[in-house]
Amino acid sequence: MTQTQQKPQLPKFFLVFRIIAPILFVIGAILIIVSCTALAEYDRFSNLEPSLGCLFPGVICVFFSIPFTVIAYMPNIQRTMVKTSKYIMETSRDDLTDIATTGAEIGAEATEITAKAMATGVKEGLRDTKFCPECGREIDRDSKFCPECGHPQA
Ligand SMILES: [Zn+2]
Repeated sequence: MTQTQQKPQLPKFFLVFRIIAPILFVIGAILIIVSCTALAEYDRFSNLEPSLGCLFPGVICVFFSIPFTVIAYMPNIQRTMVKTSKYIMETSRDDLTDIATTGAEIGAEATEITAKAMATGVKEGLRDTKFCPECGREIDRDSKFCPECGHPQA
């Protein structure tokens, strides 16, 4: 770890949106307020067009300022999300460790059982047996006497 480690520079792209978004919002809000005021004072003798001409771009401005703001603050939002997940991870670390350990134990147990079963299977498969001519019990081929009846094996 070096002391000279620098924070990565935020791309200009986000800064531009940070400037544009509030400007757009303010312009849009002013246009909407102006047009609403004009509409409120509307009577049949005045012209509707100027107020509608203000309302439309106003709505567009406000509409676009929302995603622009989201884009502009995306790095902060992400940082907050990372911090939040970190916090959750840290506060529930013990639980997560428990879950992980239990999971690992179950996994290890299952592996052990499987391995044992496989080993037994292999051993059974490889075991060379014969049947005792006296009592008929299955015994190892190289045994000298039958473990069941004691009959000597050839
Ligand atoms: Zn026998």
